[in-house]
Amino acid sequence: MNVLVINAGSSSLKYQLMNPETGDVSAKGLCERIYIDGRLTHKVGDNKVVKDIPMPSHSEAIAAVLDILVDPVDGVIKSVDEIDAVGHRVLHGGMEFSDSCIIDDAVIAAIEKCIPLGPLHNPANLMGIRACQAVMPSTPQVAVFDTAFHMTMPPKAYRYAIPTEYYENDDIRRYGFHGTSHKYVARRTAELVGKKEFKMINCHLGNGSSLCAIKDGKCQDTTMGLSPLAGVPMGTRSGDIDACVVQFICNKYGMSVDDCLNMLNKKSGVLALSGVSSDFRDLEAGQAEGNENCVLALNKFFYEVAKYIGAYAAALNGVDVITFTAGVGENGPETRQGICDYLEFMGVKLDAEKNKCRGKEMLISAPDSKVQVWVVPTNEELMIAQDTAELVNAAK
Ligand code: AMP
Repeated sequence: MNVLVINAGSSSLKYQLMNPETGDVSAKGLCERIYIDGRLTHKVGDNKVVKDIPMPSHSEAIAAVLDILVDPVDGVIKSVDEIDAVGHRVLHGGMEFSDSCIIDDAVIAAIEKCIPLGPLHNPANLMGIRACQAVMPSTPQVAVFDTAFHMTMPPKAYRYAIPTEYYENDDIRRYGFHGTSHKYVARRTAELVGKKEFKMINCHLGNGSSLCAIKDGKCQDTTMGLSPLAGVPMGTRSGDIDACVVQFICNKYGMSVDDCLNMLNKKSGVLALSGVSSDFRDLEAGQAEGNENCVLALNKFFYEVAKYIGAYAAALNGVDVITFTAGVGENGPETRQGICDYLEFMGVKLDAEKNKCRGKEMLISAPDSKVQVWVVPTNEELMIAQDTAELVNAAK
């Protein structure tokens, strides 16, 4: 089976053509500068092709992707009919979606209804869906939501302690994000540890970071909230912050709430604390040169992630497995060690040699550690392809 996985942003569109059973990717690429001019970067194995193609909208971007997939030289299939289904990443499913689903008019209307909750991403995701429907009308399309995995949270985790009317009238609550990644790692970890019933805390640590408390494969709590701003400090996001900070800054500097939120989303996090970079490799280089601000940024990150692990161990009444995933989680031994140093009291002990691993599945805890610690590289595209295949096969 061939599934085309689409991740449409406001001016970009990433794609992968993959086999959901094997995880083999036959081609992948990126359309950039949609609405500006348009550039397609297409990769098959180690071969890379870059083409400037006018993309006045997402429709032309999708058309360019399909053209190159069937191109006699750069393509990997003979006809668009060889694409059995399309899986779309959709940011916000609100309270409407607790699982992936086959797209029809009602689903499109429900995604539209969630635009106020995901004002930047949902319109772009919809453009990607509509563009695919226009050029391949008979191919089934599936929506996979970043929020869906978290819909098993109990009310004590997802409700904010603010007047009920905002929940009842406006759907204001914790939703959480990175759900496709947390779901993939939860499933894969169950295979790796050989059981279904266990308590785990997954740490998705990348440019955006979130933790998820998972019991028997189901999300119990997660650090992001109504938006991805909440939780631990990130590359450029502040993470949790006293709401009065917003009031103070807006009043003192005559800043609008939108501008202040932009600052908290794009100019904060480890970038702000270090004054150097949002990239952990740069922070580690700065630390090695004795830059005190880089040391503070890294220590703040380790401390806040470890605090949430402690909180989630309490929320789950124990923890059997801690997993690290995403750019930093998979490739940052110093970060993993820095976080786990705080968890000695829980009997967490890393194997220093195994913790040197980067980007591959590995049990990195010592044999006498009370909690297993794993590196499990995430694969959101594969999760989207698998959900898509499952739904499309079930509907046959
Ligand atoms: P992601 O958002 O999951 O793509 O993660 C991106 C982040 O991963 C980058 O900003 C880096 O900070 C981090 N990263 C990637 N490779 C490494 C590495 N080898 N060592 C430390 N951090 C890394």
